[in-house]
Amino acid sequence: MVKAIYPGSFDPVTNGHIDIIRRASGLFDKLYVGVLSNSSKNPLFSIDNRVTMIKEAVGDIANVEVVSYDGLLVDYCKNNGITAIVRGLRAITDFDYELQIAQTNKVMEPEVDTVFLTTSLEYAYLSSSIVKEIASYHGNIDKLVPSNVKCELEAKYI
Ligand code: ADP
Repeated sequence: MVKAIYPGSFDPVTNGHIDIIRRASGLFDKLYVGVLSNSSKNPLFSIDNRVTMIKEAVGDIANVEVVSYDGLLVDYCKNNGITAIVRGLRAITDFDYELQIAQTNKVMEPEVDTVFLTTSLEYAYLSSSIVKEIASYHGNIDKLVPSNVKCELEAKYI
């Protein structure tokens, strides 16, 4: 049984993230979506809200479990028998940062490998920050986020 985790801030989850979750869930026996709760990024949505939004959006996928975690990701992996970390790569700009984190994690916990999935082309431009910016100007985000997330964003930017 190979368990993986897809970690991130997910503030909020976008269709780009959902695409990675769906594809990664087909590659592993069990996929955790790990929502980082001690982010220094001053998130728009609370940790509970972010977890709930993802649960609502991917509730139909049997082998996916949405969890929150704080502290070091590799410690969470070790404590839960997780041997793979999934990250999404959009453009070359993601690469430097992702490589550094993956290599650091590998040094800290050699039993855990990082697996990169490239973004589907239609989501290559998509990020949580862009979605928040568009929503803040009441732009159309129908194609960017699941419908439950759209409702939550609209409520934030009335
Ligand atoms: P973090 O704060 O850890 O970067 P994010 O929530 O922004 O967390 O993203 C989590 C992961 O999802 C990262 O690996 C990121 O590169 C990836 N990701 C974000 N948006 C997309 C997208 N549109 N397509 C593919 N992967 C994405």
